[in-house]
Amino acid sequence: MKKIVDISRDWIRELIDGFIKTSPLNTMKNVAADPAWDEALVGFASGEDPIWQQYKEYVGAFHWTPWEVFSQHCPKERVTPAELTVISWILPQRAMVRKANLRAKKYPAEEWARIRVYGEAFNVALRRHVVKSLEEKGFPAVAPMLASNWTIVKSQRFSYASSWSERHAAHAAGLGTFGLCDGLITAKGKAMRAGSVVAKVSLEPTPRPYSDHRAYCLFFAEGTCGKCIDRCPARAITEDGHDKEKCRQHLLRSREYVKKTYRFEGYGCGLCQVGVPCEAGIPVKAAREALERNELPPPPPPLA
Ligand code: SF4
Ligand code: SF4
Repeated sequence: MKKIVDISRDWIRELIDGFIKTSPLNTMKNVAADPAWDEALVGFASGEDPIWQQYKEYVGAFHWTPWEVFSQHCPKERVTPAELTVISWILPQRAMVRKANLRAKKYPAEEWARIRVYGEAFNVALRRHVVKSLEEKGFPAVAPMLASNWTIVKSQRFSYASSWSERHAAHAAGLGTFGLCDGLITAKGKAMRAGSVVAKVSLEPTPRPYSDHRAYCLFFAEGTCGKCIDRCPARAITEDGHDKEKCRQHLLRSREYVKKTYRFEGYGCGLCQVGVPCEAGIPVKAAREALERNELPPPPPPLA
């Protein structure tokens, strides 16, 4: 594929913002025809960042590095990991959606369930739009979550794990850290959906403003909070973390509720993402202020 022009990080941000503002697919499909999303946070990570190999070693051999997924799906392109960039985005839940789910006690509010289905359909379209737009400019790209061989596997350590995780890609791209409930806490909070694309393009990575993968969670940073434990109707969150199987069973049960109550095929929960200090921002004051000051954490000490 012939490269036609150079592109910048701002070009990518504008591409994503433009799609959010103009795509007719950005809809909750409710009577008021509200948009599903109104903004995005965007970050970038290099394909040669050692974090990808660390994920693979931690999660399992089935978990792709950017080079693996790109090479499988763009086999004609011979690339090194350093020639790849992972473009990651966060779509924060809008205030009206968060507010609606705050009132939910067991199953999701209609607004939340609509975002889970129609908001994610937009997110799928956004991944396709980013891939297509990059390719039109001569930069081959792939959206790992849309790859035909993306899969979820049973894992002894994690109960379930997948070939690619949008939350982990976002963490690598400097967009957030993990909370007690496994959600990714971003500058706009934990109530969000994420997406990513791997492209053969050289863009400066976003610095990770944290040295600990749980730096934004009050439970891990300060030994307080635990509010998500009480919000979970399935008792899937404890001080030991998130029980994915209990959570999955609750999501399965929510299908019947959504169909019967809201009259569309959908599901969801997200009760642990609202009514908590990390709902719409970073609750750890020192981490939030460091991010606002654009400060990077000190590098880890040299190995003895
Ligand atoms: S609610 Fe509290 S304990 Fe749970 S993820 Fe958020 S900050 Fe951490
Ligand atoms: S952990 Fe799962 S079941 Fe519990 S509140 Fe969060 S999404 Fe719902």
